[in-house]
Amino acid sequence: MSVAAYALLDDVARHLDGMLRTSEIPDYPGAMNGVQVEHEGPVTRCAVAVDASVQTIDAAIVGGANLLVVHHGLFWGGVQPLRGRVFQRVRRLLTHDVAVYASHLPLDLHPAIGNNALMARELELTPSAGFAHFQSIAIGLMGDTDIESATLAERCDALARREGGRLVTLGATADRRTRRWALCTGAGASSDTLREAAAAGVDTLIVGEGPHHTAVEAMELGIAVLYVGHYATETFGVRALGAEIERAFGIPWTFVAAPTGL
Ligand SMILES: [Zn+2]
Repeated sequence: MSVAAYALLDDVARHLDGMLRTSEIPDYPGAMNGVQVEHEGPVTRCAVAVDASVQTIDAAIVGGANLLVVHHGLFWGGVQPLRGRVFQRVRRLLTHDVAVYASHLPLDLHPAIGNNALMARELELTPSAGFAHFQSIAIGLMGDTDIESATLAERCDALARREGGRLVTLGATADRRTRRWALCTGAGASSDTLREAAAAGVDTLIVGEGPHHTAVEAMELGIAVLYVGHYATETFGVRALGAEIERAFGIPWTFVAAPTGL
């Protein structure tokens, strides 16, 4: 007879925080990386999801998980009263003794299990430097290659379809080649990243999403942009964390898909 594995939340969090260097990596105030909600525990099953929404919390509960690991945590909206959907999230978590662990930029930039590293590998791109600098860190990656931009767009399209996104391409015309690429998952297209791309000689920028003005600026700069979808570019890291929790503690895990197409 096998005994079900369990682990203390503090032990799981210490392991992940050490691996992700949570205390060293700067982030936006709403990220609040690490344990966001405690539970009585111990951890017996883990669910991983991109967002801590009412829907992903419900799916975790239905699946019997009592730890939810997410990329976008509960506090992006800043200080809010526990009313409406915010109350519903907290009520469900506390009622069902579900803890929440969040990792935003530490998970984006991790060289082995980060969203950017894993997505570059999916696209068969080999990074040689960091990209999308933020304070003391580089969130994204860049590197050199020599392929048709349309071929890279096809790989991005396949990835977007598989991960619940929808590719929007800009400037990846049939006669064009990608020789220097940059990647920043999530909301990776901005005036700042385009400026950085132009200065670094990047001809193709791969991102999750960006506002309309980034397309205008990219056209002016002659940079092709592949918008793969914010959600679709950030499913990799949390799945890697689920696998790591299973590897280190024997805790089973499931990925809660909640495709938004955006
Ligand atoms: Zn994101």
